[in-house]
Amino acid sequence: MARKIDIATYPGNVVNGEFIPTATTRHSIDPATGAPLYEVPVASKQDLDIAVKHARTAFKSWSRISHSERAALLRSFADAIEANQEQLAKLQTMEQGKPVGLANTEITMTLTWLRTFADMQLVDEVLEDTDEKTIYSTRVPLGVVGAVVPWNWPILLGMGKVGPALMTGNVVIMKPSPYTPYCDLKLGELAMDIFPPGVFQVLSGGDELGPWMTSHSGIDMISFTGSIATGKKVAESCAKTLKRYVLELGGNDAAIVCEDVDIDKCLPKIATLAFLNSGQICMLAKRIYVHESIYDQFRDQMVEFTKNNIKTGGGFEDGVIVGPVQNKMQFELVKAMYAEIDKQGWKVALEGRVRETDSKGYFIEPAIIDNPPEDSRIVVEEPFGPIVPLLKWSSEQDVIDRANALETGLGASVWSKDVARAERMARQISAGSVWVNSHFDVAPNVPFGGHKESGIGMEWGLEGFKHFTNSRSLWVWKKVFV
Ligand code: NAD
Repeated sequence: MARKIDIATYPGNVVNGEFIPTATTRHSIDPATGAPLYEVPVASKQDLDIAVKHARTAFKSWSRISHSERAALLRSFADAIEANQEQLAKLQTMEQGKPVGLANTEITMTLTWLRTFADMQLVDEVLEDTDEKTIYSTRVPLGVVGAVVPWNWPILLGMGKVGPALMTGNVVIMKPSPYTPYCDLKLGELAMDIFPPGVFQVLSGGDELGPWMTSHSGIDMISFTGSIATGKKVAESCAKTLKRYVLELGGNDAAIVCEDVDIDKCLPKIATLAFLNSGQICMLAKRIYVHESIYDQFRDQMVEFTKNNIKTGGGFEDGVIVGPVQNKMQFELVKAMYAEIDKQGWKVALEGRVRETDSKGYFIEPAIIDNPPEDSRIVVEEPFGPIVPLLKWSSEQDVIDRANALETGLGASVWSKDVARAERMARQISAGSVWVNSHFDVAPNVPFGGHKESGIGMEWGLEGFKHFTNSRSLWVWKKVFV
């Protein structure tokens, strides 16, 4: 029987299969109410050193056990998470702010991800096989992986690193964002009963912990998800020890809507995927390019749909889609973007409202900006909040160039009944994921990552697995020299 978690207690970091208390503790707040949440550990540099030492010991045996043994443990881990789903979803809403239905979706996705990873395997490739010799391309684990997790999707994005790292024979130290340490610490607690000590450890800490990990000589790889600015610092720091790294960074996805779409059918999906998780997802529709011949109708319908269906409120209220912005820093950034509306004189189709006077939470209602200049901040910067620009286009080549114009290249979509045309357009877009007649589809067996400044390397899929390994060419001469 899986352990039942108590979401109110955090006795320590999860190190070598035990709770290790830290000298100091801290807490985050519930972004919907401003109320303080529970005290969590703050790892010191010495705590990190100890976790790395245990990880290096654990790696020796974990890297040698069979794929089927690792898979069985990963499945047990998924079962333990499932047995605690209700409490974890509640905790995720308390710490992250997302509606509890979406928190449940995140956990259900996590279960699918972990169980699919358990079925996936990198196998040796035979490059040449003769009487004289066999040449294999084999993949070997890197060692200790530091998994650095953001605050917007802490369960899925954390486990999206841990699953592939463990299945490829690595051991992991996971570091949650200081804004959202709670569910990730509970996942570490559940793992205590399942994996051998030192295989999967969780360290909660302050702002210094990430840089300590990226510069630590005992960590072999950093799997990082977060902002572009931090990603560049991670790459710089990893360079000092020539660590491997995968960077999953910010995006500013274009959604291109062609003139032949059925607006009633595509609009609910596009509008929802502009505002889901209060706009705090890396791959949402963040620049919506609508063909000029249907622009006015699309805009008016999007405003109506958003007013009637995209409710803002606390994550435990019924029917809420837009919860609070997750933290004060992000709240200030999104507010600054809303302040640009008046400063720059952008036309608004739907005027979002910052609820500052009537709530302690970080609530901001959705805003739709009506055809702002292409070089305005709302078009060129990722807002990471519930505000989205609608833009007009007329020529196919022009809209593709505009979709490709930024330094980001995470996702993009093209919407048209003429699937061949949409696919032709999609193939001209530089992004790690491009969808025809959809947006934000993800799956554990499908590689996920960014072009240009949206990232380096891929996660998920066998392609993602490979990033947790070194390539080793193995030449086996059978008799010529012996
Ligand atoms: P962030 O870059 O501020 O923080 C991410 C993580 O890095 C946190 O755990 C943080 O504590 C840690 N960190 C901060 N400074 C560090 C440093 N110098 N060295 C090492 N670690 C450090 O990002 P965030 O604000 O938590 O997340 C939002 C951003 O993440 C957005 O830009 C979003 O688009 C991006 N994101 C990308 C993906 C993706 O898969 N491409 C997914 C989700 C979010």
